[in-house]
Amino acid sequence: MNYRMSVSEFLEKADSINLQDFYSKLFTRVAQLDQKYGFFVTVAEKPHKDGLKKSQGKLKGLPVSVKDNICVQGMRCTAGSRILESYIPPFDSTVAARIKKDGGLIIGKTSQDEFGFGTFCVNSAFNVPKNPIDSTRSCGGSSGGAAGLTAALDMPHIAIGQSTGGSISAPASFCGVIGLTPTYGLVSRYGLIDYANSLDKIGPIGRGVEDVALMLSVIAGHDPRDFTTVKKGGGTYAKYLEKPVKGMRIGVPKDYFGEGVDSRVSEQVWRGIKALESEGMKYTEISLPMTRHSLSAYYIIACAEASTNLAKFCGMRYGAEGPVEESFNEYFSGVRSGYFGEEAKRRILLGTYARMAGFREKFYLKALQVRTLIIREFRNAFRSHDVLIAPTMPVIAPKFSEIAKLTPVENYMMDILTVAPNLAGIPMLSIPCGKVSGMPVGLHIMGDYLQEGKLLQVGHAFEGI
Ligand code: GLN
Repeated sequence: MNYRMSVSEFLEKADSINLQDFYSKLFTRVAQLDQKYGFFVTVAEKPHKDGLKKSQGKLKGLPVSVKDNICVQGMRCTAGSRILESYIPPFDSTVAARIKKDGGLIIGKTSQDEFGFGTFCVNSAFNVPKNPIDSTRSCGGSSGGAAGLTAALDMPHIAIGQSTGGSISAPASFCGVIGLTPTYGLVSRYGLIDYANSLDKIGPIGRGVEDVALMLSVIAGHDPRDFTTVKKGGGTYAKYLEKPVKGMRIGVPKDYFGEGVDSRVSEQVWRGIKALESEGMKYTEISLPMTRHSLSAYYIIACAEASTNLAKFCGMRYGAEGPVEESFNEYFSGVRSGYFGEEAKRRILLGTYARMAGFREKFYLKALQVRTLIIREFRNAFRSHDVLIAPTMPVIAPKFSEIAKLTPVENYMMDILTVAPNLAGIPMLSIPCGKVSGMPVGLHIMGDYLQEGKLLQVGHAFEGI
C-alpha cells in the first residue's frame, strides 16, 4: 500500500490500514530522513503490535512527533541540552497524555535549540537540523526539527512544537509548512521544560490548516495541573474551516514591512493579502508603533525568566551531576559551566543582570511596562480588525554560513516580527505564501485572544486560493 497520503486521507482510511505495516515503513523513512537532515534527538522504539490495536479516538493511530522539551513518559527528554542528556521522564506532559488518549502515536522527540534559545536551531547540544528544501540552510528555530520533519516526511504526521518568542512560526515559515501558536494558556504547559513561563505556548505544526485544527482540538483546553490554562476555549476547531471570509477585516501593520525586512518577502506577503482581498476580505494599513520596543522588552523578560528557570540545574536533583570535591559554589559553577552551551550562559548572564537589585527598575520592570503597552496596542487593533497580516520572518531561511557571521544582537533582530505577538500572548498562524530564491515565505495571521477559529478560517481560505 502506498502511504503517501494526507492526514485526512489517513483518518478516512484508518480502518483499512494495517498499522504494523504502516509503522514499519514509517520508521524506515524516519531513520533515512533523520540520518540525512538530523530532525530528531531521539527516535522512539517501533511500537509493539499490541500497542497498535488500541488506536482509537480523533487520531486513530496517527504518527505525532514531539519537540524535545515536552515530556513523554519513558522517552528521553533533553530540551536540546547536554545537562539533560540522560533525563527520562517518568510521566507524560498533559499534551502527550491527550495525544495518546486520542490514539496518536508518538514517534520521537525533535531537535531544537537548547531550551528554546535561538531562531535558527543551531544552538543545540545535539543535531542541528538541515532544511529539507536546501540543506545548506537552517530549518529555523527553535522548533526546527519539528518543522523540517513536517516538510520532509511524505507520510501522514503532525508535529508538536513550542514557542516562546516565535519558535513555531519561524521554522514553519522557513520550511514551508503551517504553524499554529495558540493563545497563551489555551494549551497546558504541564510537563514542558520551561524557557520563560509567562511566554511559553505549545502548538501544532502540520502540512495543512486542517491538520493543525485537528491537533489543536486534541491538545487545547483547561488542565487542572496548569493553573495558567484558561477555562474557555478548546473543543473542535474543524467547524471554522469552511466559514466564508467575505467581509472580514484585515489590518496590515506598516511597521512589519519596514527596515530589515527583505523587500522580496514583503512583496510575496502583499500578494497574499491581495489574494485574500479578492476573496472578499477588506484590508487597511495600520500602525503599531510599539513594535520598535518589542525586541528589547522580549529579550529582557525572556532572559530574566530563563535565568531563574535554569537555576534548578545545579548538579543536584535536576540534570547532570559531577563529583563533589570542593565547596558547593565551585561544584555548582563547575557543573553549569561544563554542561550549558554558550547561548544558555549568555542568557543567564543577561537575565540575572536585568533583575538584579539596582537594575530591576531600569530593565525588568520597564520591559513589563512596555509589554503592557504592546498588549494594549494589539487589543486596540482588534477592535476594528478580525486579523492582522504581516510577513512571519523578515527573511527566507538563511544559510548556515550566513548565520555563523551574525553577532548575538543581529541574531536577536531576526525575531523582530514575532516577539510582539508572543509578548501579547495572542494566537498566530504562519502559512506558506510564495517563494523567494526557491525558498518558502511565511504569511503571518495574528488574531485576538482565543480567536484561533478566525485564524483557521482565514488560513483555510488562503490555502484554497
Ligand atoms: N528566537 C527567540 C529566542 O531565542 C524565540 C525562541 C522561542 O520561541 N523559543 O528567544
